Amino acid sequence: MRRFDETLHRGYRQSFDIQSVLFEDKTEHQHLLIFETPELGRVMTLDGIVQVTERDEFVYHEMMAHVPLFALAAPKEVLIIGGGDGGVLREALRHRGLERVTMVELDRTVIDLSREYMPAISAGAFDDARTDLVIGDGLDYVATSQRRFDVIIVDSTDPIGPGEVLFTEKFYADCKRCLKPSGIVATQNGVPFFQPDEVTHTYRRMGRAFAAPGFYVIAMPTYVGGFMTLGWGCDEPERADTPLETLTARFRDAGLTMRYYTPELHRAAFALPQYVRDLMV
Ligand code: SAM
Repeated sequence: MRRFDETLHRGYRQSFDIQSVLFEDKTEHQHLLIFETPELGRVMTLDGIVQVTERDEFVYHEMMAHVPLFALAAPKEVLIIGGGDGGVLREALRHRGLERVTMVELDRTVIDLSREYMPAISAGAFDDARTDLVIGDGLDYVATSQRRFDVIIVDSTDPIGPGEVLFTEKFYADCKRCLKPSGIVATQNGVPFFQPDEVTHTYRRMGRAFAAPGFYVIAMPTYVGGFMTLGWGCDEPERADTPLETLTARFRDAGLTMRYYTPELHRAAFALPQYVRDLMV
């Protein structure tokens, strides 16, 4: 049986059995592979790195979308950068109060092939009337946009290749400019056990733009190495400490069913292991 060995971490790798390859080619921006597995459903990789599996995508997509969205009373405008598989878009759109969700994805082929081979991940989100899809570079978008968002979610690849610009000081400063005063940016920030520099770099770079930079953690099976950190940029420290009663009321009013997110977990996700706190210098 053919195998896929991820090449993200030096000296340690996860390996998948491939039942069949559904698509493999170079897009304009990156090498894209989609394959069927016996255990994890369909898996998409970009440049040799796992992006999404059908089996565990709910963990990441729920926590990327609902933690910043439930931290605000009545968000209206969301910007997603990257996120071509449509999972974050799907989860964000479940908030009925949102008026518009703009998604800026560099690579149209990722969207097209995700819709074709992994349709349950976007689940019709690209056809929602509130979806505003822009094909382009996220750094360029925030550098020039005159719009102001309640939440920006950066669902990027790792800081290698086209995603690298989405981890820079300039990018965070431009995100800040594109946010309303209480706005929040949440970012994909790697697995700190194996990618410790990402925490330190993001903490420093985000800290130059935001008064209250930080992280929250999720346990995502196929982003191997223990907790994954999601970056959090905001000017109001209390946003990362929303009371349980407030979160519970917002969650109840939204009437959503989740598989990972709960209001209790939302709060607990901001409690960081000491080895992660030690990287925030
Ligand atoms: N959840 C995944 C993870 O944590 O690795 C990321 C999934 S999503 C498919 C990542 C997307 O970011 C890709 O579709 C890629 O094309 C997009 N991307 C990378 N660099 C970008 C940039 N500079 N601007 C906009 N989108 C970008």
